Amino acid sequence: MTAGAAEPDLSPARRYLTLEAARALDCNACGDCCNSSRTEGFWTWGGLPDGQYATLNDGAPLIIPVERITAGKWRDRAWRAEDATPATSTPFRCSAFRPQEDGRGLCGIHDRERPLQCGEFPVHTPGLEDDIATRRVLHLETSAFPKCTWHRVDVIAGDEPAVDPHGGCVDSDGYVALGGLPPSLLGRWRAEPPMPRV
Ligand code: SF4
Ligand code: SF4
Repeated sequence: MTAGAAEPDLSPARRYLTLEAARALDCNACGDCCNSSRTEGFWTWGGLPDGQYATLNDGAPLIIPVERITAGKWRDRAWRAEDATPATSTPFRCSAFRPQEDGRGLCGIHDRERPLQCGEFPVHTPGLEDDIATRRVLHLETSAFPKCTWHRVDVIAGDEPAVDPHGGCVDSDGYVALGGLPPSLLGRWRAEPPMPRV
């Protein structure tokens, strides 16, 4: 018996978008940034305050710290003072998260006030504009989110010389055609190793 041929991976290795173009995309509600267990603990909550946003959740804790007990199994744990430190990465689940049969996950309080962090990932994080202006090309933190709309997206500064619709390097959606970039830019952008395909 022989194994069947693997499906070819036709998805792009990376997509380069201006921040404006990246922000114009819609979240697809995959839900993977709403529960740490969906990224095997990669995605966590920083600066979880005492009270855990209960005021936004009818008095019950909204964001609940969790800990891994075995591979793929997590349990709730009590809030600790160090969870409130911005530098602390707290694995969490959200009591407003509503898993769907198709694998996605919806927010049960989407039409109400939510913690600020909920609207930030991945293209509205504080300081993103400054980081892009400084670094010119920025990997978004989406490597652990293969289902995310912004998976494999790099954001490029809007004033990069290559970002010129008349020069043919960026199409009307803001996608950069790598093959059309000047060699000087290609060399710079390829200085970082490409992300591994998952
Ligand atoms: S409040 Fe909504 S968006 Fe925020 S973590 Fe919970 S389910 Fe996700
Ligand atoms: S991981 Fe991306 S696509 Fe999925 S819910 Fe979060 S922001 Fe939306």
